[in-house]
Amino acid sequence: MRNLYKLRTVLSVLLLLLLVLPAPVPSQEAEQTEKPDPALHQALIDLQNPWTVMCVAAHPDDEDGSTLTVLRRKYGVHTVSLFSTFGEGGQNAIGPELYEDLGVIRAHETVAASEVQGSEPHFLGFRDFGFSKSADETFRAWGEREILRRMVLQIRRLRPDVIITNHDTTSGHGHHQATGRTVIQAFFDAADPKQFPEQLSQVSTWQPQRLFVRSRGQDTPAGKEGPPQFFTIDPNETDPVRGVTYAQQALAGLQKHATQGPWPKTVPANGARMIRYNLVKQTTTAAPLPADAKNPLDGLRLPEPVATRFVAPTIEGKPLTEYLDRRLEILVALLNAKRRRAFTAPKEVVDTDPQRFQLMAQRLDNALAVAAGASVAIASAGEALVPGEPARLTASLINAGVAEIQIKQLRFKGLGIEKRLDAADKMLPSTETSTAVEVTVPKNATLTVPASEHLYDGRLFGEPLVAEAELSMEGVTFVVDTEARRDVAPAVEIVAVEPSPYVSTPATSQKPLEFNVRLKNHLPSEFRGLLRVQGQSLETGREIQIRPNATEVANLVVRTALPLSAQAQVQAQERSMAVTVDLPIPKEPIARRVVPLIYADAVVVSGRKVGYIPSSDQTLQRALAALGVDSKELTMDEVAKADLSTFHTIIIDNRGYQAHPELIANNARLLKFVEDGGTLLVFYHRTNEWNPDERRNRPQLAPYPIVIDDDRVTDEDAPIAFLQPRHPLLNFPNKITQKDFAGWIQERGLYFPKEWDAKYTAVLATNDKGEPPLRGGLLVAPYGRGNYIYTSFVWYRQLRAGLPGGYRMFANLISYGRRKETD
Ligand SMILES: [Zn+2]
Repeated sequence: MRNLYKLRTVLSVLLLLLLVLPAPVPSQEAEQTEKPDPALHQALIDLQNPWTVMCVAAHPDDEDGSTLTVLRRKYGVHTVSLFSTFGEGGQNAIGPELYEDLGVIRAHETVAASEVQGSEPHFLGFRDFGFSKSADETFRAWGEREILRRMVLQIRRLRPDVIITNHDTTSGHGHHQATGRTVIQAFFDAADPKQFPEQLSQVSTWQPQRLFVRSRGQDTPAGKEGPPQFFTIDPNETDPVRGVTYAQQALAGLQKHATQGPWPKTVPANGARMIRYNLVKQTTTAAPLPADAKNPLDGLRLPEPVATRFVAPTIEGKPLTEYLDRRLEILVALLNAKRRRAFTAPKEVVDTDPQRFQLMAQRLDNALAVAAGASVAIASAGEALVPGEPARLTASLINAGVAEIQIKQLRFKGLGIEKRLDAADKMLPSTETSTAVEVTVPKNATLTVPASEHLYDGRLFGEPLVAEAELSMEGVTFVVDTEARRDVAPAVEIVAVEPSPYVSTPATSQKPLEFNVRLKNHLPSEFRGLLRVQGQSLETGREIQIRPNATEVANLVVRTALPLSAQAQVQAQERSMAVTVDLPIPKEPIARRVVPLIYADAVVVSGRKVGYIPSSDQTLQRALAALGVDSKELTMDEVAKADLSTFHTIIIDNRGYQAHPELIANNARLLKFVEDGGTLLVFYHRTNEWNPDERRNRPQLAPYPIVIDDDRVTDEDAPIAFLQPRHPLLNFPNKITQKDFAGWIQERGLYFPKEWDAKYTAVLATNDKGEPPLRGGLLVAPYGRGNYIYTSFVWYRQLRAGLPGGYRMFANLISYGRRKETD
């Protein structure tokens, strides 16, 4: 009590000082009408809520960001999200990355979205193998028992009181259904010690109290067990601290999933939709969900001995969140709470629910740190840690508050090293103190780059580096910490080798092999070494010099052409070359990438000149180069103004009208090009990017109507029927056979046309098992003196992967159409 009195005196003097100080300079004017500090508000409201809600989702962007935002920002619920996959089988609306590279980006997008939502993301790490039509297909790929095992483990680890999910058990993507089915099973299995008993050495069993599934439309589960039970969230309420609605915050979070866009730019003027969740499971001991529940926790009670320990500090009986403009009084209240051991309990009580006590104790320390203006930071001079080299880290302690803070201890943890750092004894108000963290990265530290090779091994986000400070104010000790993540990389990293795979065809197989290697020097000094490529009994190398911390592209040419021939084709898949970076002495490779070599027996009619409009990657450019075609990338300006008649064929990449909205205004020029004798080849588009839409000023883009739908053929081995076996597209210049459709990647096609004008010829049909054939995947029609081709097959995935059949069919598509009179 004596201490408390002293503190009050000190703080009151400080307050007085603040009041009598000269008026702030104009730049600080904002302080006069001080806006509430969202971080302080969050830290305080977090003290009012000891509950955890988990949102389970199949892919990044399937999480319910609105509900997560409301639960954390409005109520202070501890929110975690759990994702089955990294979403690497999806599309990429903004860049060239696909597969594991896309998974890395989507994982980071998820972290960014979670920061907006105030939630904590976790991943089950299943491979996203692309769109799947059924739960059974997904279970076959992932292992039904394995999904359950991983989900049970995460529930036991994260201990949610309530689980919510957007996914039901029967609709949509097979990954969604499988995830929706598993969470229902896991709800009781997580509490059953007979399930996965081997996990119990690291975690305890855990029984969530309620499970909710998002309701779509007016479906009320016709229950034998009485009326439907649900809760409703209104995301349109304005967050009084941030000044925007929760729906607006949630949309800002959703927009972080940029690869999956485009997303709406604003919340609809009449507000976002109300969100409703139906209760599908609850424990027999859970309190009944009240009618008109406004959140999934309504009515739940903690056991008496635990509940009585979680009473948030107040001032004159009112929550601290009502005193946001009186930070010092908040600080006093928090110091008092800490002093009277709030959120702690006798061991036998803590042991009944240790993680909840740990969570709330951390939240109290965090609130104290925020109110006191205390924080810790860790920074590094380089972007990555290099084994055997100094880590070049700095730990800083910041006191942005108005009172002195004692430093009892500053510690570093990371890279298997734990050490105490030198630090001052105290920090005066508005000061910062930094100290160098002198550690050497262990020589045997495991690399975390390229990130795409670490999607599933727990190293995706790099090595965690933690700085932790034990601080004290007025005799009250509290802990603040921070975690930074850094990649562990070789001194020089091979960021990319282009092209990879290396595809050659009869037109290019006798040319020297040429690679562009993007190299990144992670050292603060110049790197000198050797860049080599070897394999197929060929080898070449050159010296490299890379400036400190720079990224440079080095060109490597293997002058002797590979003895590739048609006979070599059989072994084509096995061929590869290795690119390495070697230290000069000892001549030891420090980085290595393998480049597959593929021979495709694909020819294009001679003299073709091709213009192409890529969307977001270099697949078209590389495929045309591999085919030895005279080609040119067309800018929007050239589409609008240049003489297109110099081209025989023009290609619009998949989703090209979405990637280049200007194409719509210039579509008439492209159709004129066809009318005058050219071939226009258009790859797949999504329904909302293609079908005529007056509101978006989008006419029918094809010369004769094509209306597309959401139909997909997801089985990459689905049967292919040649509807027009003698059609030139299947015969010239390459004779296409079933073999050309073997070994496809991911899927056959998507957004197949459902209606098309009779002037089109449908060339191929395909279907998933048990479904009627889709015949619109490759449509061709004469128009004027030229030809128009629309195709929903995923040629780009096959070209990118170097599938010879994909090159042969692509060559025929380019070659289609008569030669011009001028030729
Ligand atoms: Zn999804």
